[in-house]
Amino acid sequence: MDKKRIIEWLKTEDQSALDDLWRQADKTRQQEAGDEVHLRGLIEFSNYCRRKCGYCGLRADNQSLNRYRMSQDEILQCVEQAVKFGYGTVVLQSGEDFGFSTEWLEQIIKEIKKRTDLAVTLSVGERSMEELSRWKEAGADRYLLRFETSNPRLYRRIHPPLPGEQSDRISLLRRLRELGYEIGSGVMIGIPGQTYGDLAEDILTFQSLSLDMIGVGPFIPHDSTPLMKDFEMSQGSPEQVPNTEAMTYKTIALTRLHCPRANIPSTTALATLNKAQGRELGLERGANVVMPNLTPPEYRAMYEIYPAKACIAETAEQCHSCMKNRIRAMGRTIGKGRGDSPAFLHGSGKEQP
Ligand code: SAM
Ligand code: SF4
Repeated sequence: MDKKRIIEWLKTEDQSALDDLWRQADKTRQQEAGDEVHLRGLIEFSNYCRRKCGYCGLRADNQSLNRYRMSQDEILQCVEQAVKFGYGTVVLQSGEDFGFSTEWLEQIIKEIKKRTDLAVTLSVGERSMEELSRWKEAGADRYLLRFETSNPRLYRRIHPPLPGEQSDRISLLRRLRELGYEIGSGVMIGIPGQTYGDLAEDILTFQSLSLDMIGVGPFIPHDSTPLMKDFEMSQGSPEQVPNTEAMTYKTIALTRLHCPRANIPSTTALATLNKAQGRELGLERGANVVMPNLTPPEYRAMYEIYPAKACIAETAEQCHSCMKNRIRAMGRTIGKGRGDSPAFLHGSGKEQP
């Protein structure tokens, strides 16, 4: 599809055309990724962050947030739960926390690999090549790093570089692939200043990077961030992408059509907009992965990227049985094994022109 056609899809409100888009995306998902829904146990192990992303509640200068970093033992207890629940992957996610050392995370990865068959996904922000290669050698399998927007000007505005450093997540993704990681990325939908053309370009960028995993979710404004004001001002502008549920489904479906073999999660941000049905509708419109939360209840509320996050009061057991029941009720099966992306298994890593 060319960019113009993607923009037309993003703008359409024709319900029968959209029903057709959902059908096409679901069929492609079934043919290329199968009926299994893979479960990734998410461990939000630290909310310390040195960055000041304009959109995120964990940003360094949010003084109203209590900070925590889980101990190695606490993290390994969550990993045990992942094994007990039959997950194939754990995702270790944090703010860009420079308060833990390279060795500290290396030891955790090695311990997980020694004790279990789980795939390990890291999502700990922009780190040096030395750290990334040491963690890969320790056994990490995958890395999640959203490029947030493919528009360089918008990116600089919402994701300012640290003094004396550059931030280029797209080139970092390429380097992660060279190190042998399965690479995941994604964007937020409805960032203030994001146009339909920008979002269409994001989808084409997913395709040209041949991503193994692609997470897209609505931007949810947070009171303690600078983008709250911009968000209020941007509403009503005709080229502004709305941060709605409908726009998220369109983006998931179009992403599936452009990247048929990628793993695509139905995200927590989507479930936050529609707690009753958001996850299911994402899974019916192109997604094939969900990420049940394993973070201990005493820390969950402190990982406040955005307000009113779904599943904030639940325990890991409650999240697990809720997701399992929802997936079964849809007539889908729960994935067995690591759930590597079909794109990766078929030999990804070749960027498209
Ligand atoms: N610190 C790591 C990083 O930035 O890659 C990982 C954690 S970060 C909280 C994970 C993702 O949360 C970001 O890539 C961003 O897309 C998403 N996020 C942050 N603030 C958000 C908001 N207000 N609404 C929706 N998603 C948000
Ligand atoms: Fe930190 Fe990631 Fe939030 Fe940016 S998005 S402030 S790097 S946690």
